[in-house]
Amino acid sequence: MLTETLNSLQQDAVLNQLRSATPMFWQNTKLASFKDAAADVGLTQADVDAAMARLQRFAPYIQKVFPETQGSNGIIESEFYRTEQLQKALGIDKGALYIKADNELPISGSIKARGGIYEVLQYAEKLALDHGLLSIDDDYSKLDSEPFRDFFSKYSVAVGSTGNLGLSIGIMSAKLGFKAQVHMSSDAKQWKKDKLRANGVEVFEYDGDYGQAVASGRQQVEQDPYGYFVDDENSKHLFLGYAVAGIRLKQQFDKAGIIIDKQHPLYVYLPCGVGGGPGGVTFGLKLAFGDHVHCVFAEPVQSPCMLLGIYTGLHDEISVQDIGLSNHTIADGLAVGRASGFVGQALQRSLTAFYTVEDEELNRLLRVVHETEGLKLEPSACAGLAGVQYFKDIDNARHLVWATGGSMMPDAVFAELLK
Ligand SMILES: *Cc1c(COP(=O)(O)O)cnc(C)c1O
Repeated sequence: MLTETLNSLQQDAVLNQLRSATPMFWQNTKLASFKDAAADVGLTQADVDAAMARLQRFAPYIQKVFPETQGSNGIIESEFYRTEQLQKALGIDKGALYIKADNELPISGSIKARGGIYEVLQYAEKLALDHGLLSIDDDYSKLDSEPFRDFFSKYSVAVGSTGNLGLSIGIMSAKLGFKAQVHMSSDAKQWKKDKLRANGVEVFEYDGDYGQAVASGRQQVEQDPYGYFVDDENSKHLFLGYAVAGIRLKQQFDKAGIIIDKQHPLYVYLPCGVGGGPGGVTFGLKLAFGDHVHCVFAEPVQSPCMLLGIYTGLHDEISVQDIGLSNHTIADGLAVGRASGFVGQALQRSLTAFYTVEDEELNRLLRVVHETEGLKLEPSACAGLAGVQYFKDIDNARHLVWATGGSMMPDAVFAELLK
């Protein structure tokens, strides 16, 4: 299938531009009304509501063990900012530019604090309910106790990661008392490994890329009857944890009097790695705003796995290496060569467009957003900033750039990036 498709696309302009590793934009020709496309996902509003309710049940526990969530009563959510200086610097004359500051999310400083933490919580809840240690009407702050930590210590939670997912899963799992194991790809940053070890997480390092770290982690856990593997490529739990962002953003916009309708469409720019984070958020946004929201995915020129998978229709049966790309990028959170097949098929008719960004541009944007708004973003989190230019002529548009991570970068690492 792969060879046949590649042969038939030898003269294809889109594929050739992808191969050339130069910035490109592709308007999704498969886009459909969400009324029709929603069924592709296989999940519903009720699933997202259940995830939201679960996070609410855990809020007293989160508030107790992570004091930085005191102000939000144990709810892990980010602010959004109106960014006029940045808008000017990017040369956007029409509409209004906002940033969704997931870089400031508590506990792990990235979008992974949504899905990653949610998945660990649902697993812990299931174990405790199944063993008669907890009922859903309880005050979950009781999980912060020796008997619970002791109970969870029999089980291990593992994940393969380029960095941030490992941080979220590792920190949350260790806090509950699980044995936490994170399998890191070669592009994972040293400070992320150090932080995990400081939190009592076992870190395994690999020379290969993200796909190999995932495969090793998965294999190791399969032999352990008390092991749980967080499957970033297929997990519905992760996806639902991310999707909660849609309802929450709608509530934030309502409160701020920001109206999204036919005359005031919302354009959201989401950095994409394997696809779970931006995919889950897209699903949540589509449920909240319907066809008035347009979700656009951003990927590095060397790692456009989701664009490639959806464009060719091969999804996870094709990798960026298959078209001669290296999957090397400074955007460590986006250094993924093969997209999630689940997310590609779920959202291929819901995404408005895709584009790719060069590393140098990410560096430039990292400086611009710091100089204009004082925000501390990691390179991956800057990919969304490069997308607004493609929609700058739309009247009354609200542009929302999803800033996916960065606040926990050590100052020395950030200073190095600013240079
Ligand atoms: C993981 C990550 C993404 C993308 O999420 P995926 O689920 O891998 O697509 C984007 N930005 C940052 C900073 C990340 O850590």
